[in-house]
Amino acid sequence: MTNLIAKTSTEIEDLLQPLVDHGYRGRQVANWVHQRGAQEFDEMDNLPKSLRAALEREFSLREPEILEICESGDGSAKFLLRFEDGVTVESVSMPEGAKATFCLSSQAGCAVGCTFCVTGAMGSGRNLSACEIVGQYRRLRRALGEETERVNIVFMGMGEPLLNTIHLEQALSVLYERVSPKRITVSTVGIIPGIEWLAALARRPKLAVSLNAPDQERREAIMPITRKYPLEELIRTIRNFPLERGRRITFEYVLIKDFNDAVSDASAVAKLIHGVPSKVNVIPLNEDADHFPELHQPSAETVDAFARTLRDLGHVVTVRWSKGADVAAACGQLKGRQPAR
Ligand code: SF4
Repeated sequence: MTNLIAKTSTEIEDLLQPLVDHGYRGRQVANWVHQRGAQEFDEMDNLPKSLRAALEREFSLREPEILEICESGDGSAKFLLRFEDGVTVESVSMPEGAKATFCLSSQAGCAVGCTFCVTGAMGSGRNLSACEIVGQYRRLRRALGEETERVNIVFMGMGEPLLNTIHLEQALSVLYERVSPKRITVSTVGIIPGIEWLAALARRPKLAVSLNAPDQERREAIMPITRKYPLEELIRTIRNFPLERGRRITFEYVLIKDFNDAVSDASAVAKLIHGVPSKVNVIPLNEDADHFPELHQPSAETVDAFARTLRDLGHVVTVRWSKGADVAAACGQLKGRQPAR
């Protein structure tokens, strides 16, 4: 049964053509699905009953089931969601005044195996469908309420989005119904063919690249994917990435104590990305004693010195002490586990 939540308005109108006698009915249904977030066809009270019954027979509006919501002391909330086949993922909502940022997952598990990431430690899962990606947005959006005016989306949850480009492309087309591409960021470990795919899209979200080391050797040690897509080639690909006016590439840099946190490392990063319109997001590691007990978060002074060095060398830098760490919703902590029963 076709699920309309992962169809664009145009696709919904086309799908409904055989069922309706007036063209505007398709637009009405699309409006209910995307602008009003309908969960049941019965809510669509400006449609004839017979049409609602026909929609019910042929289509669905199924969304993932919410198994658990963990609210953090800092206002963010981690959602544990279950799909039809029982697979679970986690998504995070970070409200801030009239705005909110959603961190969505693109895969259940991840085969990439970055050593500082709990999702990576779970091993490979499966790609999420467009319905499952859009379903996360709908669940989180509804939980926020209408007083939140603007939502940003970052694909930094579970999985590597650029290893799931087919479903990501359809999900993006649908998300654009509510969220502008300039408010959506796709974060990658550096899948070069995926970055090239993104570069070729007519409507592009923003690109973030998880850098995490200034040289090939250390990057390989924590991000095995670097063997397949070497750092030098990755930076060359990023330099060719088309940027709309005012946009920058975000480089994420997880700062790990005594590994990649020296002032000399900050200088090396500055040199590596010199000339790329960018900002660097410095993320002090979120420790996890179960999955990577040997990796630690640097001191606040070390984090400051690293960020200051990059700034002094002319780079835009933000330091992101991750939100939601108290409920394991911070960067690299998502795993989609089952709740305790
Ligand atoms: S950081 Fe991203 S790509 Fe790396 S293991 Fe974790 S989820 Fe996968």
